[in-house]
Amino acid sequence: GKSKHKRSDKESLEVVCRLTPYEGNNPCLILADENTVECTPPVGVVQRNGQPNADKVYEFGRVLDETDTQKDVFERCSVDLIEHLVAGKNALLFTYGVTGSGKTYTMTGSSSRNQCGILPRTLDTIFNSIQHSVADKCVFFPTGKNAFDIRDKREAREEQRRYRLNSQEKTIDEDRFIETKKVDGYNDDYACAVFVSYVEIYNNYCYDLLDNGPVEQTPPSLDVHMDANQMVYVGKLREVEVSNADEALQILAQGDTRRRVCDTLLNKESSRSHSVFTIRLVMAPSMEEELYPVQDASRIVVGQLSLVDLAGSERAKRTLNTGDRLNEAAKINQSLMTLRQCFEKLRKNQRRAQQESVPYRDTKLTYLFKNFFEGTGKVRMIICANPRPDDYEENLNVLSFAEESQ
Ligand code: ADP
Ligand code: MG
Repeated sequence: GKSKHKRSDKESLEVVCRLTPYEGNNPCLILADENTVECTPPVGVVQRNGQPNADKVYEFGRVLDETDTQKDVFERCSVDLIEHLVAGKNALLFTYGVTGSGKTYTMTGSSSRNQCGILPRTLDTIFNSIQHSVADKCVFFPTGKNAFDIRDKREAREEQRRYRLNSQEKTIDEDRFIETKKVDGYNDDYACAVFVSYVEIYNNYCYDLLDNGPVEQTPPSLDVHMDANQMVYVGKLREVEVSNADEALQILAQGDTRRRVCDTLLNKESSRSHSVFTIRLVMAPSMEEELYPVQDASRIVVGQLSLVDLAGSERAKRTLNTGDRLNEAAKINQSLMTLRQCFEKLRKNQRRAQQESVPYRDTKLTYLFKNFFEGTGKVRMIICANPRPDDYEENLNVLSFAEESQ
């Protein structure tokens, strides 16, 4: 059960488990206490790999179940990452689990007041916590990944307008939930601009969901690069500046619409793609009575928070795959398998003087994760699991991944 080798920097990775509400009999997962979950084989399953099956206990930073609300999950899993972000550091939060285990519900939720997930609450909280009014006088434009060009707000507005003209307008529910939370850590002497981007990774191809051109049969796949500061980024990715949470949610909704259109056109199965929503804060010390904040690039601070809804972790045999679907399944598994190998290497490196290289570059997904696993990044993995007996085998796979990672 309990892993003996914790990472030396305990703060850098934390794994939380969330159980889906389950009404049926004999759940295969039971909350033992607030940090542990007990995994019980369903009746009739006697042997696995020739070994008699026994109950097994898995330990997490915290286990959340049906008694925990969306707000509880947000507060437990995201608030400290937002503190990290507004202080100019990087953070990654991702959901991992079988299809139907609640990954999307946890990350996005539905638009109703109580059901909305981590993403909308996070956006609200960020805008409650930063001094955006100062940035109203100016704007930062990403030019390359870590270089910023500070331009006149009018020019920025023009850019925004051009973007909007080409995008389908979508209205946000006026009655939507507003998170009242505010976090500490933001330096009030800074001006701040917020950018969002949204990509889908499918078959190891990376698509820009905020691209506002026509959806094509063969959409351009973007390459992932590393800049001079060893930061990995998606080349030619569209980043949209937003000035409040509603604007950001509108951009998210546009991206989701595009994702659905693409999925249909390309005959993709949405459960097999990873989605990465990234919020970047660009902060620079503002100067009294000046129109612009400090323009010295070395004093500009950039924080990045990526919220990732991973593809379903089920193995290929579950859905009788043939031809393209099988190839696709193998590739999806490749991203998740490489992710697992990265965790494995990271864990080994914690224990040894001799450092082995971590295979981030093997897939686009893991390459994008590199920023967060190194340096000051903070990583939170939410393991989602449905306690139904049918998912027992796949849940074991998910739980063992979680166990190895901690
Ligand atoms: P996944 O993204 O992992 O495939 P979903 O998030 O789509 O799974 O969840 C599957 C279904 O279960 C959805 O209808 C979702 O609304 C519901 N669901 C998941 N988790 C919860 C929860 N904690 N409370 C209520 N409903 C949930
Ligand atoms: Mg989903």
